[in-house]
Order: sequence, then structure tokens, then C-alpha cells
Amino acid sequence: MKQHSEKPREGQWINIDEMSLALNVPDNPIVGYIEGDGVGSDIWAASRPVFDAVVEKAYAGARKLCWWKIHAGEQSFKEFGSYFPEESFEAIRKCVIAIKGPLTTPVGGGFRSLNVTLRQKLDLYACVRPVKYISGTPSPMIRPEDVDMVVFRENTEDVYAGIEWKSGSNEAIKIISFLEAEMGVKLPSDAGVGLKPMSPTATKRLVRMAIKYALDNKRKRVTLVHKGNIMKYTEGAFRDWGYDLARSEFGDVVIFEDDLSNKYHGEVPDGKILVNDRIADAMFQQALLRPREYDVLAMPNLNGDYMSDALAAQVGGLGMAPGANIGDECAVFEATHGSAPKYAGLDKVNPGSMLLSGSMMLCRIGWHEAADLIEKGLAETIRSGVVTYDLARLLPGSKEVSCSGFGRAIIEMIQKN
Ligand code: NAD
Repeated sequence: MKQHSEKPREGQWINIDEMSLALNVPDNPIVGYIEGDGVGSDIWAASRPVFDAVVEKAYAGARKLCWWKIHAGEQSFKEFGSYFPEESFEAIRKCVIAIKGPLTTPVGGGFRSLNVTLRQKLDLYACVRPVKYISGTPSPMIRPEDVDMVVFRENTEDVYAGIEWKSGSNEAIKIISFLEAEMGVKLPSDAGVGLKPMSPTATKRLVRMAIKYALDNKRKRVTLVHKGNIMKYTEGAFRDWGYDLARSEFGDVVIFEDDLSNKYHGEVPDGKILVNDRIADAMFQQALLRPREYDVLAMPNLNGDYMSDALAAQVGGLGMAPGANIGDECAVFEATHGSAPKYAGLDKVNPGSMLLSGSMMLCRIGWHEAADLIEKGLAETIRSGVVTYDLARLLPGSKEVSCSGFGRAIIEMIQKN
């Protein structure tokens, strides 16, 4: 099989301190990128020049991103005979930081989603999705600017662990018989069966990351979102383990809902973080009715999947929603939408999700000035009425541009200001 052979031509590696997990970032870091399938190459082609332009503008040549192509997806299958060559996982580990476009999950039996495989192989245990309104973007909310939340979704467990057996299979029949004989649980003999494993280890590392994020970013509230009223030993335990972690590791800074009313007159004092919890169905209502009361949300995998897309819709849809999969060893930033095959190669879709994911990536390496330029450039371009088709159809009087045209408009906006 042909090998993934090119090496980075320039740049230095980012290192990670094993104890503190802090990143040591050179001025010319090697950053991995996966273009992705379908519209992946369109949004990458539009976004990369923006990333290079903001770094140039912010640091006047003193810093530079050195891009290293990492192979994955359909193109990789054609060239190397593998959708995700082992060397590509190694390359991401080596880079510490990478950014990716969407990957198509080929339809057909036995094929695991590449994204799920990536998260599990690299132990990227938190899916982080900031959801913030960019003014000028069409939204179904009356006050979309009230939505400013960051979702921390557990990425490795829950019903997403992929442990399930098809109705009528030998395995399903075996497990149904075992449950009846050994546990006194009777299921329909033709049921399909799935497992929902959730552990204190995985829950606590996620909640730890969410609370640390809240502290580092001066956020005031961390809400544990669960369905513990129904699933007591998984979702209910998620809530209990989350509170345990908050008390044992952050006892000097966290306060709880009782304290808020009894001691602090409803206001979270400076330097403190409120840790509370909400049942998932109620949280969907709260996100619509009282979004200002929510800040950082930590939740199990399935709740997080639903909640992050629902919140994204509140601020303009998936085309504008950034995301990252973060572990202790590395992080992969990604456009959160799929490969949208019907638009592939048309230079048409909105690169906003990739651009904002790049902004998150720049924050992760501490290049906040460059990250801010992306957000400002994007917001001002939309406010000026220059948008891609998805926003143009909702914004009467706007000027529709192509995917790459939108990227160029952002660069012009950044250079003008
Ligand atoms: P999709 O997100 O690819 O597309 C659904 C629709 O959303 C598109 O037809 C388009 O109308 C709109 N859309 C998506 N991205 C857009 C953008 N940037 N700008 C404007 N409009 C946009 O979802 P799908 O059709 O369900 O999935 C297609 C493939 O992508 C599947 O193989 C799926 O497994 C994969 N997928 C990958 C990821 C990922 O890599 N993170 C995420 C979701 C889906």
C-alpha cells in the first residue's frame, strides 16, 4: 500500500507539558489539517487564506502557521487504500493541534463513523461547541444575542459507545436470555439491545475540563445537563459525579444553587462559579426561554449531540457553528456540519463553521489577537450584507457570494480595519 509520505516542510512542533497539560507553542507551529470530503475542500480553500491573513495582520510576520496535510476520508481511500491510515492518527498526535473538514460516513454494513473512530482512537473525550450569536445573522430567536453558551459534551461513552446487538441476532438472543435467567429482567424476545455505559472516570474528566474552562474564561455558571430522573445509575450518576468533582477539586471557587439564594442574593459573586444541574428536557426549554441564565453546559454524549445542534439553530444554524474534540494529548477542531455532498465542489456553502473553528484553535494556542480578527472580520462581513447562499435567502437585500468569495471578503474587511 502506498504510504502517507510527505513530511512537514517547515515549522516546529507544539509540545505539551505532561503534568500541567499546558501547550508550549513556537512562533511557527506545525498544524495538521484534514480537508475532508464533499464540501470539505471548498471550505478549506476559503478558510486557509483567512487563517494566514489574520496571523500576518496580528503579528506582522513574527508568527506563522505551518500547515501539514493529513490524509483521511474518501481521497485517502483512493490514494492509500484506507479511509483513516494509522499514520494519520500518528500525525495528529505529533501535531497536538489539527483542524478538519467533514468526513463522509460511507453507507454500508460494518462501517464505523470516521469521526467516532477519530474521537475514540485519540481519546478526544470532550466535544466543545461554543454557541454565540454573530449580529446580523438570521435567527429564529427574538433576542438571539442572549445566547452565549459553551457545550462540553462527553465524547467516549453513553449509547455512542457502539455496543449494540441487532434484533434476532444470536448475540441479542443470548443477552436477552441472560437478562431473564440471571437478572430477572424480561425483554421482548425480538428486541434489539444496546448498552449505555457511563463511568465516574469519563464524567469527571469532562466536568473538570468544563469547570477549568469556566474559570479560565471568566464564565459564571456550569450546568450539568442529564436525564437522571429516568436513568438513575447513568445520567443521575453523571450529575452526582459532577457535583462530587466540583466539591472535591474546586471547593474553594464553586457555589451551589442553595448558596445562590441563601447567601448571595441570586448573584454569582466575582471569583466564584455556580455549579447547578438541569434535567435535559427542561434544559431545551430553558435554552429558548431563559438563555441568559446559562453559560457553560456539561453533559453526556447523547444529550450533548441534540443540545449542541439545537443551540446552533438558535444562532443561525450549523453552517455557523464551530466545534472541537479535545483530549489531554491533542485537539482536533472541526466544522460541525457534514460533507453536504450535493454542494461538493460548487464553491457555494458557508465556510463560517470552519472559520470559527479556526478561531477556537488559535485561542487554544494562545493566539487570541488573531482569533479575534477572524470573529470580527466574519461578523463585519455579514453585517455589511455579504453572505453565502444559506444566509442570503434569509437576508433580503444581501449580496450573495461564493464560498471562496466570502473568504476573500473577510480578508478585505480585516485588511481595511
Ligand atoms: P450535512 O451537514 O452534510 O448537510 C445537510 C444540509 O445542510 C446540506 O444539504 C446543506 O443544505 C446544509 N449545509 C451543511 N453544511 C453547510 C454549510 N457549510 N453551509 C451551508 N449549508 C450547509 O448533513 P448530512 O447530509 O446528514 O451528512 C452528509 C455526510 O456528512 C454523511 O456522510 C455524514 O455521515 C457526514 N457528517 C460528517 C460530520 C463530520 O465530519 N463532523 C458531521 C455530520 C455529518
